[in-house]
Amino acid sequence: METRRIKGTKDILPEETEIFLAAEKELRETMSKYGYREIRTPVFEYTELFIKGTGETTDIVNKEMYTFEDRGGRSISLRPEGTPSVIRAYLENNLYKKRNFQKLFYYGRMFRYEKPQAGRFREFRQFGIESVGSSSPQVDVETIILGLEVLSNIGLKRVELQLNSVGCENCRPSYKESLRNFLEPKLNNLCDDCRRRFETNILRILDCKKTNCRKVLKNAPTYIQYLCNECKNHFSEVQYLLQKTNVNFTLNPYLVRGLDYYTKTVYEFISQVLGAQDAVGGGGRYDKMVELFGGPQIPAIGFACGMDRILLAIEKEGEIKIIEKKLDCYIVTMDEETDEEGFLLLNKLRKKGISTEKDFLNRSIKAQMKDADRLGAKCSIIIGTEELSRNEVTLRRMSDGSQKRIRLSVDEIIKELNNNIKQ
Ligand code: AMP
Repeated sequence: METRRIKGTKDILPEETEIFLAAEKELRETMSKYGYREIRTPVFEYTELFIKGTGETTDIVNKEMYTFEDRGGRSISLRPEGTPSVIRAYLENNLYKKRNFQKLFYYGRMFRYEKPQAGRFREFRQFGIESVGSSSPQVDVETIILGLEVLSNIGLKRVELQLNSVGCENCRPSYKESLRNFLEPKLNNLCDDCRRRFETNILRILDCKKTNCRKVLKNAPTYIQYLCNECKNHFSEVQYLLQKTNVNFTLNPYLVRGLDYYTKTVYEFISQVLGAQDAVGGGGRYDKMVELFGGPQIPAIGFACGMDRILLAIEKEGEIKIIEKKLDCYIVTMDEETDEEGFLLLNKLRKKGISTEKDFLNRSIKAQMKDADRLGAKCSIIIGTEELSRNEVTLRRMSDGSQKRIRLSVDEIIKELNNNIKQ
């Protein structure tokens, strides 16, 4: 029987969960500042949605989906990315009829059957945005500025923005043609995957990371020369606005991104401290997807960022803040009778908003004190037999060990605790 966790998944233990929670708080605050509202879609969808949305020829759909047949014989897949689900939900719930410009964000688990390595998992967390309804280059720039700000607010400082344009259905055929002419005589020098891509999705050859393929591509024609007027103007405006808003960027003619649906602007956020898996996020415009899903002609743009990889990069930058959770009060008891009194007090204090713990293992007073220290308790309340007979307890301030007898009254205990907790 296999009872270990599945390769490529991880257990996020409480200390790390705290780090995720802090990052998620920053995420939500920044999204809200830019007017993006959270949408939560199912973790699985009909497989067809991803075949259509993400693209039949992509690695994600071809090699990486967790696909299964449900009991009704339908083909279902765990979501490998968020965009197709958000666009499906946008259409299915008629969001475009409610407001013709929608700014949505999501955060959740994605699943891809990839080769696990540092920063690459089979279950991982992505947050992303989808800005649906405007074709303005200002929106392209807004998403980039938001992406950089979210990353910075979460704690990632050393990020490079890479930018490219992958044109539209008008100019793409002529660029593909010139790339095909350039690559055809050199096919033997390309890897197996790229030889396959030559037939199925030639643009993807541009972002192959293999050394030989990179060598072949050195003098390849770049898309910029082939952009139609509309795409050229759009791309110039995006660059102009980035300069005007003081956002540094690097033009990368090889940036095409792994998904089929992009048009015009594409970009990636690259961490300067990570090794091989250095992209912490990426996105671009996808002006055709809403239509492809049977909706009206509505343009859209979005990005997705990998939370696990971001936290890895922040750790590498040496910036992870360890969040110290302090306990307000630990109740120390002596025997059965005082222990029951302790349990009742525990519940009363928690109800009043004081974080409180007690022992549940019948440990000695010394061991209970140690436990209080380990949990970082600011105070302890000691209920001894003699104290209880006088209807009193001892309050001990953990920082200096000073003690004081007080009445066993919740109001009085809270008053004293508040005095000490604040210090
Ligand atoms: P993509 O959806 O492929 O454009 O990826 C967007 C971001 O999600 C990447 O830049 C990564 O930060 C993250 N990501 C993608 N795949 C994985 C994975 N297998 N494990 C961890 N993070 C991932």
